[in-house]
Amino acid sequence: MSRTLVALHAHPDDESSKGAGTVAHYADEGVRCVLVTATGGEAGDILNPAMNRPEVAENLAEIRAEELAAAAEIIGYDEVIMLGYRDSGMPDTEPNAHPEAFVNAPFDEALERVVTIVRRERPEVVLGYDEHVRYPHPDHVRIHDLSLAAFEAAADPERFPESGEPWEIPSLFAPVFTVRRIETLHTAMLGLGHESPFEQWIERLDGATDTDKNLVHIDVTATLGRAREALRAHRTQVDPDGFWFQVPLDVVAAHYPFEDFELMQSRVDVASTDDLFSGI
Ligand SMILES: [Zn+2]
Repeated sequence: MSRTLVALHAHPDDESSKGAGTVAHYADEGVRCVLVTATGGEAGDILNPAMNRPEVAENLAEIRAEELAAAAEIIGYDEVIMLGYRDSGMPDTEPNAHPEAFVNAPFDEALERVVTIVRRERPEVVLGYDEHVRYPHPDHVRIHDLSLAAFEAAADPERFPESGEPWEIPSLFAPVFTVRRIETLHTAMLGLGHESPFEQWIERLDGATDTDKNLVHIDVTATLGRAREALRAHRTQVDPDGFWFQVPLDVVAAHYPFEDFELMQSRVDVASTDDLFSGI
């Protein structure tokens, strides 16, 4: 049986920092994986000091598209679709007001484009975003809203009748950075006598838990290295000595070789907590 996964992301590099090991895992199993990236990431900061040069800043959209293509190939995506919206920038910054910014596009226009892709691909699993309470980037919040709306609209014959046969998405998940993950890796790093990159996160969590959430944990032992390699392909956006690489790969593999997903919506009985295709 052929299986398909469609992942919705806001910016180039989000596909590599959120759930990349899981997509790589399913790609290895023969699942068709389609990446939809809403914006070109034009408002991103160049976070790698070695890449902070004028010619990079001037051609950022083009360079980020190349980085995205390289990362998607490492992860194992079969197709990359860029919706071509402009990066809306961080909350309360100037790019928010740009007329081509993703947040300023009519909601139904973006929704129809996502619905068209969903109806064409007929995926068993769609990845969108959670509420993003801790990181309310406007483009991420919009992906959250769009993914929930697409779950309903793609199945509704009265919505966008020109955009393909209705498709009932069985399951919609969101990649999440769980409290369990943060606490486990934080404790592991301190136990090994290392500095933990999660010190401030732990303070901000202030006793929060994820126990109220419907979580699925995917074992990504075999693909952890590829997920990091994909992230490194975003050479302008990712500091090779920065946050994402501070927990050594062998520590992640030994203590938390999982990626976590929150079940946002489902039309099937998701019985298993270790498989996104559970119940299908
Ligand atoms: Zn992003």
